[in-house]
Amino acid sequence: MKSSNFPPSKIAADLLSSWFLEHQRELPWRTDKEPYRIWLSEVILQQTQVSQGLPYFQAFVAAFPDVHALAMASEDAVLNQWQGLGYYSRARNLHKTAKFVSMQLNGVFPKSYSGLLELPGIGPYTAAAIASICYEEAVPVVDGNVQRVIARHFLVEEAVNSSVGAKMVHALSKEWIKGQTPSVFNQAMMELGALVCRPKAPLCSACPIADTCMALRIGVVSELPVKRPKKPPVDRYLHFSIPIQEGKTQLIKRGDGSIWAGLYEFPNEELDEKSFRSLKGRLSKSGKMPPPTLTHLLSHQRIHALFSLSHQPFKSPENSVRVALDELQDYPMSRLMSRFLDGFTLLDLPAA
Ligand code: SF4
Repeated sequence: MKSSNFPPSKIAADLLSSWFLEHQRELPWRTDKEPYRIWLSEVILQQTQVSQGLPYFQAFVAAFPDVHALAMASEDAVLNQWQGLGYYSRARNLHKTAKFVSMQLNGVFPKSYSGLLELPGIGPYTAAAIASICYEEAVPVVDGNVQRVIARHFLVEEAVNSSVGAKMVHALSKEWIKGQTPSVFNQAMMELGALVCRPKAPLCSACPIADTCMALRIGVVSELPVKRPKKPPVDRYLHFSIPIQEGKTQLIKRGDGSIWAGLYEFPNEELDEKSFRSLKGRLSKSGKMPPPTLTHLLSHQRIHALFSLSHQPFKSPENSVRVALDELQDYPMSRLMSRFLDGFTLLDLPAA
């Protein structure tokens, strides 16, 4: 193993657990170890800061107080609560899992890591979080915060997003949790990564495990964790052509297989870059002001969106609804759609 601090120090793990018990933030999902709430919080907080996820957690628990309530909700209601958080597959999986737990398991979550992993929509990270926090099973929870703490403390120089690096981080975490209270230790690792061992400007002088931190000792904290560069995002070009008649417009519900599946959007077509630019040029000449364009970055795609009014009659593709202009907010939409509606007035758009 290419780490110079193996096996992991029990004293450091004890210090980390004690630090957490004293310094942990008061968060609503920490008040009890109810699997439904822990599951909800972990799914909401994936790729999301606590400050952003907190109001979503509270709104979700208020709207769907238990797994049966979530299972009974419509997909539109679940996506509406999720609106703005992004990564909508998380909401769709949440709904799928809730239906399974409510209907097949009588609302009771499995009580082991392996049992949780068998649920549709629950992956290793979430299963480990529920099994360790609710049932004290000694499985490590490895998120981006934990990867950073482990890579720095144990001087893991392999890229943490490579399979070799990920295996090293997992093996070290698995070793380190031994002899600890799993719920405390896993949350301590995540909390240390979020509050102290931060990506930029880590607070090493306030760190409970600074004495055994290899990266600090040899002065390479800012160089770790190593990450293999991601592939550049693919550029896509969408033209949203918005029909308006008698105070109504039309929305289309995206079908399965798209990142925006289940969300509503204005009718649109995908163009190649040249056609997109030429249409934008034409719209710029025809209207009083340039046509609204937005660039929207997703994890693997950069969407270039152009918006215009359409004077064509409503078409009736599958999954379309006619919506009064003042009722658009009742439909779950992607962040791109919300950004557009927040920033522009429909009736001011140039016509294509
Ligand atoms: S000493 Fe600094 S780099 Fe090392 S684990 Fe603590 S905060 Fe992270």
